[in-house]
Amino acid sequence: MRRSTLAMVRDAHDNGYAVPAFNVVDDLSLRAVVDAAEEAGSPVIIQASLKTARSIGVELLTEMFDAATARCRVDTALHLDHCPDLSMIERVVAARWSSVLFDASDRDLGQAVAETSAVVGLAHAAGVDVESEIENIVGVEDGVGSDVIVHSYSVEQLADAIRTTGADLIAPQLGTAHGAYHGRPTLLPHRVRELRELVDCPVVLHGGTGLTEAEFRSLIAAGVSKINISTAVKHAYMDSAYHFLKKARAKDEWDPPSLFRSIAGEIRAVALRHFDIFGSAGRSPGVQS
Ligand SMILES: [Zn+2]
Repeated sequence: MRRSTLAMVRDAHDNGYAVPAFNVVDDLSLRAVVDAAEEAGSPVIIQASLKTARSIGVELLTEMFDAATARCRVDTALHLDHCPDLSMIERVVAARWSSVLFDASDRDLGQAVAETSAVVGLAHAAGVDVESEIENIVGVEDGVGSDVIVHSYSVEQLADAIRTTGADLIAPQLGTAHGAYHGRPTLLPHRVRELRELVDCPVVLHGGTGLTEAEFRSLIAAGVSKINISTAVKHAYMDSAYHFLKKARAKDEWDPPSLFRSIAGEIRAVALRHFDIFGSAGRSPGVQS
């Protein structure tokens, strides 16, 4: 069942868990995540990067999501991840996706606030929620972002920006980074608490792959209610394909459906693990009733 991203994430905040948002790259990964959500009874947000939206196309991606979730009992939403490109935001809003992350973290504060306000106006008119990012979360993801901190603000400035723009969710710097970690990150759960005290706006955690269960739980306890998982899905996809194909070559057996099953199984396992850690398993209203 399709539901608004904001409604799902607010439910999660009120009940002390977080909704996982998985980046999918094709119909195989999309169906694997949706099947896992059904199995776990968890609400789930399906995300596409700008790169994926461009490679598959907004129209086909919308149809794939609708087809894959048509008979779902659990709450589902379709979200566009980091997008600094206003023309793509317009296309996704016109296609009535659930939400978009307008990534204005490469702009100065004044311009970021002005452009985010315009995006919120456009999106809300179509019933689409907006996640706002004005501080850059380090690491490059699918070609978007920077490896160094370009813009960083106080929680008061972030709260002011939310009030001015009317954005529905915020993705602040929380010490995490996109991609794989090469050292332990210094997490900033206090920023989540401070922000939540200043403004009633759900907080999103990016760069989730590589955090420990305890780290996830401490950030959820601090008030994070949407957590993005991208790198873990990509690794599951590529690792399982790599190992499967190595065996296929050794055995000289070439059966694509077996390869698909192997990849889907690994992605499903990644999703199930995160539903468990984030406390979202069994939480979808459609499942409880
Ligand atoms: Zn991100």
